[in-house]
Amino acid sequence: MKILLTASEAVPFAKTGGLADVASALCEALSKQGHEVVLILPHYPQLLPRGAQSRFKIKPTGESFVATVGPRETRGHFLQAQLPNSEVKVILVDQPDYFDRPSPYVYENIPYEDNCERFVFFSRAIIEAARQFGPFDVIHANDWQTALVPALIEIEQRKRDDLFKKVGTILTIHNLAFQGRFWHWDMALTGLDWKYFNWKQMEFFGDLNLLKTGIVFADMVTAVSPSYAKEICTPDLGWGLDPALSDRGDSLVGILNGVDVKTWHPDVDRFIKVNYDEKTLEQNKPLCKADLQKIVGLPEKPEVPVVAMISRLSQQKGFDLFKQAPDRLLDNDAQFIFLGTGEREYERFVKDLAKQHPTRVAGLIRFDEELAHKIEAGADLFLMPSEFEPCGLNQMYSMLYGTLPVVHAVGGLADSVVPASETTLKNKTATGFSFKKQNVESFLKTFNQALETYRNKKTWKQIQQTAMSQDLSWTNSAKNYVKVYNRAIARHCK
Ligand code: ADP
Repeated sequence: MKILLTASEAVPFAKTGGLADVASALCEALSKQGHEVVLILPHYPQLLPRGAQSRFKIKPTGESFVATVGPRETRGHFLQAQLPNSEVKVILVDQPDYFDRPSPYVYENIPYEDNCERFVFFSRAIIEAARQFGPFDVIHANDWQTALVPALIEIEQRKRDDLFKKVGTILTIHNLAFQGRFWHWDMALTGLDWKYFNWKQMEFFGDLNLLKTGIVFADMVTAVSPSYAKEICTPDLGWGLDPALSDRGDSLVGILNGVDVKTWHPDVDRFIKVNYDEKTLEQNKPLCKADLQKIVGLPEKPEVPVVAMISRLSQQKGFDLFKQAPDRLLDNDAQFIFLGTGEREYERFVKDLAKQHPTRVAGLIRFDEELAHKIEAGADLFLMPSEFEPCGLNQMYSMLYGTLPVVHAVGGLADSVVPASETTLKNKTATGFSFKKQNVESFLKTFNQALETYRNKKTWKQIQQTAMSQDLSWTNSAKNYVKVYNRAIARHCK
């Protein structure tokens, strides 16, 4: 099968969150299963790591195109690159006015004013790339930034160009909270007829909504975990799009993300002090812990539990729980490490907490991939009390590193963590700790249960070993995506 996977970010080219990890790991897994995979991304020169030009073999293809975005015709160029250590070809859409910027979507936490225009341009570029580098059997859009693509194919291209006649389209929702919602006049930028600007298709409370557009027009829609696929069909977690999602019936499928175990596994991780596996856990993980304590400036105490969190600092990730009861969170002997960037209010909270408790709390307000790896290896417990969590990657990384997760049982957190209980400890299936109600009481109760379990070395080790032996690789998830691709293709083979 020939697959074009479209995304606004992918490691190692650009990353702001989970989508970047998923996009490249899924491409690689599909390619390993024998499919021909092309990944298309915007070219963000300012975000490339040092040495990227030669490491990722970035070079011009010599192909250019002109995309019409509203009244403007804009030229772009296709660059070619390679996803490192894989057969996956990468097309980078080069248009400096739109993408040569310090971050993909926001500047100082404020979205760029021309985000709609930028990603309509990118979507049109994807159609051009599909023409020049195709034909493809499947075009896979991800999140609002590329959600217009299925609509462009359905409304314009299928009739116009044989290349698109039978292509299957898929939209994956990584986080429904981000919808690409813009004022109604931006409808003109899409180039689609205003007749589609109605409440059943592209309109949403008077605005243009790109994610809704994708949900309506894609052949198949996926969400990044089975629980999340169900949750988004309810008013509680549907962000107003639950009716559109429910309308898709069984064309909406949940597939749990995998982990890129070449990068995120303690046995091979190149950033951590010493590698370890289930057998060497006891000798080597403490060395990673001591290294971490030293790096973040906390006292090197092997017996004190290190509790970590790596996250966008946002309401979604559950920071309000800490804000409501910082003293109760600290009412134990644990050390806390927070690594993240995001909303000012939470950044200030984390900084203040670290300032008030310099020997107990490290507050690191930055994006630091290398430190993220060291934290996964060196910490004992990992917190993810998210209000909602489409899939979440860190709880899965944590399990593989024997760093037991404490999670709110929602979305992908509920699908991936088996909470410790009498039964799950007895049958050796427990992989972490979880609470059902999103409030301070239940969170602290579970957190304290985890700290108590930490003191029981035998039980702790058993849970660590179960967590570390989970098969969280992309192999299964990629197979499930292929099933969805086949269903999308089948819709046009009648
Ligand atoms: P989301 O995509 O909602 O932000 P996920 O848990 O799905 O959350 O993915 C977040 C990814 O981003 C993880 O790989 C996590 O390690 C990484 N990450 C988030 N914040 C930081 C940070 N400040 N430094 C390094 N990595 C980070």
